[in-house]
Order: sequence, then C-alpha cells, then structure tokens
Amino acid sequence: MPDEDLDLFIKAYHFAEKHHRPQKRSSGEPYIIHPMNVAATLIKLKMDLQSIIGGLLHDVVEDCDVSEEEIQKLFGTEVLDIVVGCTKISKIKFKTKEESQAENFRKMVVAMAKDIRVIIVKLADRMHNMLTLQYVSKEKQVKKAQETLDIYVPLASRLGINSVKSELEDLCLRFLHPEVYYRLAEKVAMKKTDRESYIKDTVSVVQEKLSEYSVNSEVYGRPKHFYSIYKKMQNRGVDFDQIQDLLAFRIMVENITDCYKCLGVIHSSFTPVPGRFKDYIAIPKVNNYQSLHTTVIGPKAERIEIQIRTHEMHEIAETGVAAHWLYKEGKSPRNLKWVEELMEYNRDIKGSSEFMDVVKNDLDIGGIFVFTPTGDVKELRHGATPLDFAFAVHTDVGTRCVGAKVNGKMVPLKYRLKSGDTVEVLTSKNQTPSKDWLKIVKTSRARTKIKQHILKIEREKNREVGEELLEKALKEHGTNVKSLEKKKEFQKIYDQHNLKNIEELYLHLGAGRFSVAQILDAIPSIDFDKVTEEEKKRKEKRLESLTKKIQTSAKKSAHRDNAVVVDGLDDIMVRMGKCCNPIPGDPIVGFITRGRGITIHTHSCQRVHEIEETRKIEVHWNPAYAFRHPVNIRVITHDKPGILSRISNNIHSHSINIKSAIAKSLPDMKGSFLFEIEVKDYSEFLKVVSIIEAMEEVISVTRA
Ligand code: MN
Repeated sequence: MPDEDLDLFIKAYHFAEKHHRPQKRSSGEPYIIHPMNVAATLIKLKMDLQSIIGGLLHDVVEDCDVSEEEIQKLFGTEVLDIVVGCTKISKIKFKTKEESQAENFRKMVVAMAKDIRVIIVKLADRMHNMLTLQYVSKEKQVKKAQETLDIYVPLASRLGINSVKSELEDLCLRFLHPEVYYRLAEKVAMKKTDRESYIKDTVSVVQEKLSEYSVNSEVYGRPKHFYSIYKKMQNRGVDFDQIQDLLAFRIMVENITDCYKCLGVIHSSFTPVPGRFKDYIAIPKVNNYQSLHTTVIGPKAERIEIQIRTHEMHEIAETGVAAHWLYKEGKSPRNLKWVEELMEYNRDIKGSSEFMDVVKNDLDIGGIFVFTPTGDVKELRHGATPLDFAFAVHTDVGTRCVGAKVNGKMVPLKYRLKSGDTVEVLTSKNQTPSKDWLKIVKTSRARTKIKQHILKIEREKNREVGEELLEKALKEHGTNVKSLEKKKEFQKIYDQHNLKNIEELYLHLGAGRFSVAQILDAIPSIDFDKVTEEEKKRKEKRLESLTKKIQTSAKKSAHRDNAVVVDGLDDIMVRMGKCCNPIPGDPIVGFITRGRGITIHTHSCQRVHEIEETRKIEVHWNPAYAFRHPVNIRVITHDKPGILSRISNNIHSHSINIKSAIAKSLPDMKGSFLFEIEVKDYSEFLKVVSIIEAMEEVISVTRA
C-alpha cells in the first residue's frame, strides 16, 4: 500500500492493543491476536486501509467501552461506520431455521446498509473465530458452526468471496461433522506422496500440450475442499471409498482469448466428458464469478476437473466483491449495485416478506434464487418448478422426486418457485421420471436428464421383457437361450434383422419390433406343435410369485398407523377418496390436495381422470396396517323369503362383520341389498363376493 498513510494503521494497532490489554481470548492468548488476524485476512482480500483499520478496531466499542466520538476523532467517519456496523451485527439474533432465511438476509443487508465493507470485516472476524473454535465449549462450537453455515457462508457466496466461503465451509464441517472431516483429512494425507506425484505428472502433461500450441499458462493441481467432497458424498449417497476425484486442476492465462485457446487444446488432447463443460466467461455467475469449467479423461483414464481463467478472474473468484477495491478504476462489480439497490428499497420497507419481494425483483435479473433446507442457494430461471430445483441439486434427486415442500408446505410439482423460497425435495427410491414431467420443467438441464432417463428405463424394460418373453417361450419347448446360443441357433434371426447379439434381440423383441413366434420360426431345432397344459399352471405360479414380490417390497417401508404409505413422507395426512373408497389391494394413486394432505383414489375412479397429472403422487398400501376397511357391496337376488338372513349368515360365518344392510324390492320379483362390510383387503373382499355369488338365489354381486 505505497500510497496509504500507514501511520494511521500503526496508530490503530497501538490503540486496539492498549484497550484490549486486560483481555484474553479463550485460547489464553492476548486478545489483540484476534483483531490482528482479522486485519490480516482483510489484507489478503486486498481491502482498503479503512477496512483494515476497521478490522483492528472492530471489538473496541463493544468490549472496551471506547466511545464512538473517540474513534471518529482519531480515525475518521468511515472507520467509525465500519466499527459501529460490526458491533450492530454482533448483537443481531439470527434465526437458524430455514424459514427465516429471508429475515436473516434482511438483517444482514440492513447492517451493511451504510457500507458493505462492514460485512467483509465481519466475515474476516467470523473466520478467525472459527479458526479458534476448538477453545470454546462443545455446545458453543456447534452453535457457532451452524450459524456460520446458515448465514455467513451463503453471504460470502453471494458476495463472491470464495476463498472465505470455502475455508468457512471446511471449518463448519470440522465442528459439525468431525467424523467426516477427520476421515477425509486422513484420506487426503494418506495418499499424499501418490497424490503429489500424480499432480506433478498431470500438470506436466497438460503443460506440455499447452506449450506445443504456444499458449502461455500456469497449471496448478490441488486437493479439493473437504466440504465440497462431503457434499458430493451426500448428494450421490456414496461412501469415502467411492470418492475418486479428490483433486482439481486450474490453468491461469493472460487473457480471455487464451482461455478459449486453452480449452481448445485441452479438448483436442483429452476426451471431454459430455455435459461437464460450462462457460462462465460468456455467462458469469450472478456473483461475478468467471471461468471455463470442464472435465476430461486424463492420461491414466481418470477424470480430471479443470478450471481455466485469467489472473483477474482468479482474483475476483477468490475475493469477490472485495475485488472492487482492487479494480476500483475499470469496472463496477454487479454485486455492489445489487447491495446498493437493496439498501434503497430497505429504507421504505418494513416487513421481511415484503422486503424479500423487492429483493426478488433485483435478483430476478439472472433468474430466481431458492434455498435448500440447509441454506444453500440455487439459481434457476424464471418459472422454474420444484422439479427443476430437484434436478439442479442432483440428477438422482430429480429422477427420484415424488413431491416437494416449499416453505414447509406441500406443493404440486408444477408450482412456480419464487426467489427466497426454501425448497425441500421429497424422494423415493421407487420413483422414475415420467413423460408428463417434460411438460412441467423449465430448465434444459432437467429436460435433458428426464429424456435420458426415460429412454434408459424404456430400454431396460424392453430388454427385460424381451428376455423374459423369449426364455418363457423357449422353456415351453424344453430349451433355453443359453443352450441355443451355444448351438448358434439364433444366427438366422440375427441375420434376418441385422442384429449383433442376444442383447439386441431382447431389446427389439421387448419393443415389439418382432414377435416370439417369428424368433421360434427362425430356430431350426424347435418343434412347433407342443402347446401344453403346463403353460397355464406356470402362468398362475408366476402371478403368485409376482404378487409376493410386490408385497414384500412394499412391506419394507411400512409403518403401522397409516393404511397407505406415501413415498418420502412419514407423517402426512392421508384420506380415502369418498368417491371410490379404496381398500388394500386396489391399485391406487395419491393426489396432493390444497392443505389437506393426500387423498387416495383407485386407478379406475372417475376422479383420477379429472385431476391434473402434476398433483399425482406415488402411494402404496401399508402391509403392516391391521385395521379393517369398510366397503359396500350390492347384491341382486331373486326375491325369495329369508334371503337377507341367508346372505348375512353366510357372510358372518366367514367372520366378516356387516356394519349395515339396506334391502329393497325391485320389479320382476327381484331384491336389491346394499351391505356395508369390513374387510382386511381386496382379496378378502373377493372372497366375500365369491361366497355370495355361489348362492343359488343370487343374480349379481358388485362393489358399490
Ligand atoms: Mn471479533
């Protein structure tokens, strides 16, 4: 800082040291160590002199009874504003629940209303507090770390100060999930020599390629931040051992042209992984971040993540809005405008939800911002739905999405998200994407992923069906695929349809491109005339085992209290549709109602066709549910004396309870009876029906 008056800085140091002298940190060190560390972080962020002095003095008003007038007199109004701002923030009671994100951000913006440097000083303050968190009680460690993750990390991210953001995240992980943190640390340390030589090798291969094309560049390799690895593990549901890519590479060049040149060289020297290239130079992130991202298959057939950026982009990526002071002359970073405009609005607005509406308008420039339940911010385009959000979180979250809660309330999948919404995705392992989803989603990422998935599932299904059909048909002729393959008996059909192997045969057969008969026809050794009685038996057996399979899989996730299990939801209110009154065993579907939980209808119910596709949710009968369900049956009989009691006795004799019975005479000497009975499930219902049907006088039995 050749142009600055460092005397003022030195004066501030002595001033702070003198006032903090009686105090000690929890670590036992002299208190002045803390403001010095804060100032050091601010220097690293290349902040201006006022901020650095503000950092040195940030605790003196609160902790040392120094008067505001004194600071103003000695260090000027700007420093005073920073110190006062920091003091104010330290008195804010933040809510840590996800619902109050808007409120937290409001408080923060109010605090930075006068000067955004306040927030940056506060971030530096929090950084040192987190670095020395081991000296406070366990309870306080968790509280502080959670608050940091909820409030300071999103803020650092929004302001684009990635160096602070990443370090804070790693520190939060260390105190919130120490077991994860230390295992990752161990894993990274264990392979240190391997890693270093691997980095060295990769860097030199990449560098060689780049110099071949005379691109001036610096190449670095580094371990990734623990928190980003942790998040990857969570998102993908994988274990430590499955985490492969602990490293990331970065190429730094002089100018933007060289960035793209670099990319060209990389992509022509190594195979790029599809879908992994991102151009944040042409379209910077909202926090001004710029870089090219790509993943390629490296020299040892492993994935390599590479970021390409200029030195200036790097500076902005690391320091974000702080870089404004560094590049004061040239550009005006958008962040600053963002903050300024927010402050304008904030002067006239009181409630936090109203405030968030206004914030939304500003944030909408690049799309909308929504929060994950843990406070992460996702940027999506206008009109984006919970499904888009789910796919933005992770493909696996998207494909398994069965519903969503926005700000704690169930919403239909086609709900339009708004900035500030907190979205919780409900997932189920059994879920698969449907074609209807394509009508709902607004982002191309989600659309592509859904299409890919549908195709994949269709293929798998076709393959499976094909294999099953063929094996079954062959079994009836006393043979199987394996032995026919050995004898090359499929060659004729392969040739006929230009197929390579049995897998392709399955696919085409399953897709209905040709029939089993066609295949059997083309197999020389098959005798065609045997159609057996066995086939029937086999069919019945298969049906039985299939039913069992479905039943056991449903059992897994069942609780006892609900008749119906809604995937991904434990405690949701479930009601049976009055129109169709489903009983266990009926094929059913759930509908999300407005504020009244989920209503269950049978597939055949008229209502099913009237309700929008997007409100459907997958549900299963709960096999553990032991209570009985009412069901109505209508019985038409020849009108003979004593018929009602004969039917009733018959039902009772099978230990089925009749709740009510209504009898009516019809013309033509017929009688009509409406029974309300209680059954365990659909098969018991069928049993009752067959008992009544077997009676001589009975004409028809139907469900009513
Ligand atoms: Mn402090």
